Amino acid sequence: MKPRTIAQLVPAIDTQDGAGVRLRRALGARPDQRLDPLLMLDAFSSDDPNDYIAGFPAHPHRGFETVTYILDGHMLHEDHLGNRGDLMAGGVQWMTAGRGIIHSEMPQQTAGRLRGFQLWLNLPAGEKMKPANYRDIPDAEIPAVTLTGGAVVKVIAGRVHLEAHEIEGPIVGGSTDPLYVDVSLTGGSSVAFPVPASHNVLIYVFEGAVKLNGSAIPNATSAILGAGDGIELSADAGGGRCLVIAGKPLNEPVVQHGPFVMNTRAEIEQAMRDYQSGHLA
Ligand code: MN
Repeated sequence: MKPRTIAQLVPAIDTQDGAGVRLRRALGARPDQRLDPLLMLDAFSSDDPNDYIAGFPAHPHRGFETVTYILDGHMLHEDHLGNRGDLMAGGVQWMTAGRGIIHSEMPQQTAGRLRGFQLWLNLPAGEKMKPANYRDIPDAEIPAVTLTGGAVVKVIAGRVHLEAHEIEGPIVGGSTDPLYVDVSLTGGSSVAFPVPASHNVLIYVFEGAVKLNGSAIPNATSAILGAGDGIELSADAGGGRCLVIAGKPLNEPVVQHGPFVMNTRAEIEQAMRDYQSGHLA
């Protein structure tokens, strides 16, 4: 296994989106910070409802997928197809916007806390106009393994080979073949697993600090990794927790305008016309 090392550290940036939701943008704060096929990663964490209570009222998407992972609190959502749901702590919503979805996402606190993430994952040109779809995946359906040294690895998407275990998340395969893993490291513990050499890999640290192959990734910071086919994570006495997100690059042009992510300017203009005329979805 050739261990990947840190190619670039990107501190998360405090920003606002939706109807004034305060969040940290961990990837994609600028177009040159995308990591094909990962477009954007937002981290939510607050104990003040004023930071998020206005939520994300009805808005459209076209051309990519959103992956929402709730750690604390929950999220009410509904869409133009009549789907309604309440995404609970530990659960994931995997939403494929395809040709179009119009939905609302309203974060809610539990015991005063809200914490979670939303990833925007690109779709290839040939799938940007497929029908919209989503899955709410409860915590109980997402495998988590506690390793010998105390590390806990939860596999949301992809397959991970850990010690003697082969863990498969509820989402597997597809054009970008995503890997999405939540790694909790207790003080002094470590974990190593293969990641396909074909994939781009991002690590976002959101508790304590995590070391990749011995090099520290600070809290609230994304590490974009260099080439290799495996990763080795560890934590000092204070422990740490991070997301490891990887995907197979599409190598296609990306033209983004707000909630639409297409390949050409003309396709963006079409999406705006379709939305304005009620024909997005
Ligand atoms: Mn949305």
